[in-house]
Amino acid sequence: MKPDRICPHCGKPIAADRKRYCGNCGEDFTGPDDAAQEAPPGRRVSGRGILLGIFIALVEPLSSLAVAFVWDRGVVQLEPNGPFVQALQGAALLEIILGPLGIAVAGQSARLRSVLAWYVLVAVAVPVLAVVWFIGTAYLGGLAGEPF
Ligand SMILES: [Zn+2]
Repeated sequence: MKPDRICPHCGKPIAADRKRYCGNCGEDFTGPDDAAQEAPPGRRVSGRGILLGIFIALVEPLSSLAVAFVWDRGVVQLEPNGPFVQALQGAALLEIILGPLGIAVAGQSARLRSVLAWYVLVAVAVPVLAVVWFIGTAYLGGLAGEPF
């Protein structure tokens, strides 16, 4: 004979035929404990971490694109050989570090465990990053009078 289970919500004994919801108050009596076992706090997917990873991976190419766009539109006037444009063009090389770092942060935050999941992430993210980076760098370089 099983010991009586007590509903954590209403404190009444739970009927033996109940699997999940208390017959008395209708609450899910398995809830918090089971959820905690499935995903302990440290292993939960971190939406903020995923966004941080995407930000790290995209900040350089998107900055180049944004600056090139407003420069092209004449919203800002920039010296092609000025320090700002030079620094931004130099920062393009940082993407070699920032791209993989951002992908790693996003993958970790998404709690990817299988090799396949990581493979899919990299197979999707790297070409997307490369295209955005290439467009941003070429656009900016073209305006500065020296594509690459
Ligand atoms: Zn109850």
